[in-house]
Amino acid sequence: MERSTLLIVEDEQLIALNLSLDLQDNGYHVCCIASSEKEAFDMAKQHQPDLVMMDINLGAGGDGINAAQRIGAELHIPVVYLTAYTSDDLIRRTGLTAPYGYIVKPYNVRELKASIETALARHRYEKITERSEKRLKAAVHAAKLGLWEYNVQRGTVLFEGLFGEQVNIVGDKVELKAHDFFARLALEDVDELEAMLRNGQNVSRTFKLKARSEDVQDERWIELYLSDMTLEQGLIRIGAVKDVSERENFVNELRTAYNILANIDESVIVLYSDFTIRSVNKAFYKHTHFNANDVIGAPVSMVLSGNRRHDEVLADCNKSIRHEVVVHRRDHSHFHALQNISRIAATEHNPELFIMILTDISSLKKAERELNRMAYRDGLTGLGNRNLMNQVLGELDCQKGSGIGLFFIDIDSFKLINDSMGHEPGDQLLIEFAQRLQQIMRAEDVLIRLGGDEFVVIVEDVERRQDFERLAEKIIAICNEPFNISGRDIMVTCSIGVAIADESVDCAASLLKHADAAMYESKRRGKYTYTFYSNDLVDVVRYRLFIEQGLRKALTEQSITAHWQPIVDGHSGQVVGVEALCRWIDKDVGMVSPDAFIPVAEETGLIQSIGLHMLRESCMLLKLLDERGFSDIRVAVNVSGAQLKDSEILDALNEIIQDCQINPAHLEMEVTESTLQSENAAMLLWQIRQTGVNIAIDDFGTGYSSLSRLAEMAVSKLKIDRTFVDSLGTDSRHQIIIEAIINLARSLGLLITAEGIETKEQWHYLRDKGVHSMQGYYFAKPMPLNDLLRYLSDNKDGNRNLF
Ligand code: C2E
Ligand code: CA
Ligand code: CA
Repeated sequence: MERSTLLIVEDEQLIALNLSLDLQDNGYHVCCIASSEKEAFDMAKQHQPDLVMMDINLGAGGDGINAAQRIGAELHIPVVYLTAYTSDDLIRRTGLTAPYGYIVKPYNVRELKASIETALARHRYEKITERSEKRLKAAVHAAKLGLWEYNVQRGTVLFEGLFGEQVNIVGDKVELKAHDFFARLALEDVDELEAMLRNGQNVSRTFKLKARSEDVQDERWIELYLSDMTLEQGLIRIGAVKDVSERENFVNELRTAYNILANIDESVIVLYSDFTIRSVNKAFYKHTHFNANDVIGAPVSMVLSGNRRHDEVLADCNKSIRHEVVVHRRDHSHFHALQNISRIAATEHNPELFIMILTDISSLKKAERELNRMAYRDGLTGLGNRNLMNQVLGELDCQKGSGIGLFFIDIDSFKLINDSMGHEPGDQLLIEFAQRLQQIMRAEDVLIRLGGDEFVVIVEDVERRQDFERLAEKIIAICNEPFNISGRDIMVTCSIGVAIADESVDCAASLLKHADAAMYESKRRGKYTYTFYSNDLVDVVRYRLFIEQGLRKALTEQSITAHWQPIVDGHSGQVVGVEALCRWIDKDVGMVSPDAFIPVAEETGLIQSIGLHMLRESCMLLKLLDERGFSDIRVAVNVSGAQLKDSEILDALNEIIQDCQINPAHLEMEVTESTLQSENAAMLLWQIRQTGVNIAIDDFGTGYSSLSRLAEMAVSKLKIDRTFVDSLGTDSRHQIIIEAIINLARSLGLLITAEGIETKEQWHYLRDKGVHSMQGYYFAKPMPLNDLLRYLSDNKDGNRNLF
């Protein structure tokens, strides 16, 4: 056994030596002998003895009690006093230094040894206790615990530990009234805790701390442990407090996440990184009808297909990605879903996982399809609409030169049917027309209704031009059979324009435009036919466009007016009438010929406004002539077939006659032969005739006429077309026709006017054949109003110059 080392503090050398010898004899090692306060501390510090034997009165060396005090406090070395004196005061003072023994000189050696051993043993125990206390402190520190003792008798709490700040307790070791302690803890269910303490239950519970601020994000939780312990002070309940907010918040989050997973209606699949299914939620089973045995551990491809992009995503994903997938059900049906994948990185104890959320978008898909259908289909006929056409045109590759062609189809006179029969029959006709188109076209051809009565057919892979021609003929032929509409058989025809793609054109931009232009050419050529687009059409189209736009402007700017051409008696040369001829005087291009703009006005419907304007001007002239004393002069106005599609003209006529207070018998309407073909127009003309207005057939001889119609209509005059007059001297056939017309008129009791007379010979010839009145440049050109009035007064008694 190791010898204990002792330090002797003694100012008297002899006593010190004697003591040293006694101690060494008893098996101790005396390291050294100090004789003063200072020496005692320095030597103790240097040699670290196990015990110090301390004399109290060190004479000049100072006070042993002071030395003992310092050695105890700073070096934690036990001190045993050895002194010759004792007094109550001395014992009290030494007591304050917590000595390990007190021996009075002269000492007995055995007593001395017993005291030293006791002191050494006590010090050893104290050290052990101190170490275990230190260990406890370190553990409390490491665990971030607060310790508390509840003293049942005193009703106080002793709190100690690192935890003070979290529970608003400042100071290392604080004793508080139990009530104050709980108040500072700010527990939400403090009453419950107090009850537990009163009832003497052992506590191990988590409490929620009241929010320290309004900021509810900051949820704090503590865990309290407490158990009974009986100490000398009586019953103590001792325990620990721990801040478990982090853990508790995490658990709460987990719980929330779990609840969401369990209750959401979206299917959730958790995958291992080898694409096998680790788990799924309730909704997944509900939506797919699979059960756990089917899917857990199975590859995810068993339920997902089509789009395998999730493989890529799984392989390289830190971001969550959304895309569309097809989800299979147990019964092999499927639904579309939006897939959202996110990755959960591997940790030390857990493998890498992927969470896949599948949102059913079937209804969305359905709505999308419906929208698409609506966006690309014509509601009436079920064919494609303009959107579809634009899309198809945009996707065509004309460069391939692969026999692409576009047919632009327009039903002739559809407006007439719509106006006369109503919209519903009109719609029926369009539907039937669309069906017939569908029957003759191939499934891969694109059929479009552009709107109104316009249809488009786009074809591909048609090799030769003849094949395009054959197709156009086939389309025209769908009108060969009458359409049964509202119980009536109706014959309609259609006009077609065809544009064939070639390398030089941009399909999307040009095909439709070209086919449209070609279609107009078909209309111009008399309808019921097809025309292929060619470059010559470009100028025609451009000119037409120019006319149409200009006309609209002219109408609003009132730059359309009437010129008047006198009609004279073939024998007397007296003016018997004037014809109103429409003039468009454009600011930039000057006068535009009616031959150029009237057909465009007829196609675009602008003829209605022009016609009414001319009618009004004619009636106003009649009134003026009447006022100026020319009351036997008739005024003739041209009426286009397009104006006779509805009764607007009849209503306007009645109104104008009323307004101008004219004699309707002095007004003459010139219509062409072909106008009489239409039942509708014939009906209207008959009604017009009933008002007293005269009807003349213009350009007679150039079209088809039914004599019975002429009689029926009570037509009063025929005008021989000027082409016949023009060729009088050159074309003998025309001479025969003129004679036939004159004979016919005579037998029907009709008046005859010849127009386009430019020479004296023409005039004389016609006069001699019995033509009543003459019109032509030979007599007078069409002229503005002022010129006309002057002309009339100059020739009041017949045109002497010419006769
Ligand atoms: P139209 O009804 O046959 O009119 C007669 C045309 O012959 C007029 O041409 C007239 O200026 C022209 N003309 C008269 N005498 C001679 C002549 O000796 N030699 C020659 N070479 N021509 C002569 P314009 O004014 O150019 O009118 C052309 C056509 O335009 C008219 O033919 C008519 O069909 C149409 N038109 C003119 N004004 C109107 C109108 O207000 N309404 C309608 N619907 N059509 C009109
Ligand atoms: Ca005329
Ligand atoms: Ca004419």
